Amino acid sequence: MGAAGAPEMSAAALADFRAATRAWLAKNCPAGARGPGPIPWGSSKVEVGADARLWLERMADRGWTVPTWPRRYGGAELDKDRYAVLVDELKRIDARPPLTGRGVNYIGPTLLELGDDDQKARWLPGIARGEGGWAMGYSEPGAGSDLASLSLRAVRHGDNYFLSGRKIWTSDAMQADYIFVLARTSPDKPKHQGISLILVDMAQPGAHVRPIRLLSGASPFNETLFENAVASAADVVGGVDNGWTVGKRLLQFERSTHAGINISGSQGGRTATSTLPPIVARYAGVANGRIVDAALRERLIRHEQNDHAQRLTQRRVIEETAARAPGFASSAVKLTGALNAQDGHEIRLAAMAVAGLGWQGDGFSAAEIEASRDWLRQKALTIAGGTKEIQLNIIAKRVLGLPD
Ligand SMILES: Cc1cc2nc3c(=O)[nH]c(=O)nc-3n(C[C@H](O)[C@H](O)[C@H](O)COP(=O)(O)OP(=O)(O)OC[C@H]3O[C@@H](n4cnc5c(N)ncnc54)[C@H](O)[C@@H]3O)c2cc1C
Repeated sequence: MGAAGAPEMSAAALADFRAATRAWLAKNCPAGARGPGPIPWGSSKVEVGADARLWLERMADRGWTVPTWPRRYGGAELDKDRYAVLVDELKRIDARPPLTGRGVNYIGPTLLELGDDDQKARWLPGIARGEGGWAMGYSEPGAGSDLASLSLRAVRHGDNYFLSGRKIWTSDAMQADYIFVLARTSPDKPKHQGISLILVDMAQPGAHVRPIRLLSGASPFNETLFENAVASAADVVGGVDNGWTVGKRLLQFERSTHAGINISGSQGGRTATSTLPPIVARYAGVANGRIVDAALRERLIRHEQNDHAQRLTQRRVIEETAARAPGFASSAVKLTGALNAQDGHEIRLAAMAVAGLGWQGDGFSAAEIEASRDWLRQKALTIAGGTKEIQLNIIAKRVLGLPD
């Protein structure tokens, strides 16, 4: 049996699939959807280029924005073997994924697993086509790591829920068409039991977004305020007061996405070859084919080994996972990936020395300024989707079975 429980494909059938996929991609992937560049995430407020739009439409028509989803929800029902071939072939031509974001990667897979038939039919085909960008309303000023302390209220009147309260650190909320929120539906129950996961339309008078300005001048984060915002009772996912279970599963899809092991989303494409060795060599100097600084050389070798091990682990976890995305293993792979990415940026900065300290001004090239900003941005990797300490707690308790 194949890893997904489907009959093993014969080598010949897989080779045929590869040849057909390669031919189709060569013909249908526009030049402007290859190489670095923006990837659409469904937002109706973000302009994407003509080629990116065409790429999205063509891939959606084929079911390849969400290749493993059932056909009736916009997928192509690929098993893991064919999914891996598709990803390989996308990487071979350096194609960007046609669609990304919290729709295809987080809430879509959650609906597929825990939504009811009506929710799946109403939401999934649009998500697969990138019709609407999603934000994630989990964190609140008093509820980050201790998420179950959240206090956004959802009160039922008739067929609707009315939401009041405040979310924070809501990435991309100012451009989102929809948001999934964790809200308190039964304040009298113990805190983990009175929570529901609800889908909310952002285009309504009761939903307000306030950008949070960062030191860099950018505002990727927001405060999202709900003042009697309306959501349909039909859009409570996985049952009323069952949001803790549903919300935790969604977090596993998020962490799996960060970790590159969420096969139920839109991942794939773009070769992630390491650009670090040539940068370190350029700044730190090379003699006799070796980076001169022995300590830096050692760090770089260890980093590249870890990077390689991370990719092998990603492959292994995907092969071993029976479900659409791994459970608690997602915490481990997310954490090691984040730590290694941060380590790579530390090494790059160490090699660049003073050139890596630029923030603005003429003394630095655009690439150098980007390098120092990138180095800072990477620090968020061990906060977003649950902090490093929270992942370590999960690994200790749920993976290693250590006592509380
Ligand atoms: C780039 C980025 C994007 C984000 N996007 C979103 C988003 O779209 N939607 C959303 O809802 N949220 C988002 N967040 C918020 C994120 O989920 C929270 O920042 C995170 O869960 C931590 O919560 P907190 O900031 O309240 O920190 P706190 O929970 O206050 O933690 C502070 C420190 O205490 C430590 N700590 C807390 N509890 C424990 C414990 N039990 N054991 C050990 N150490 C502990 C933490 O590890 C951390 O170091 C984003 C964050 C970042 C950085």
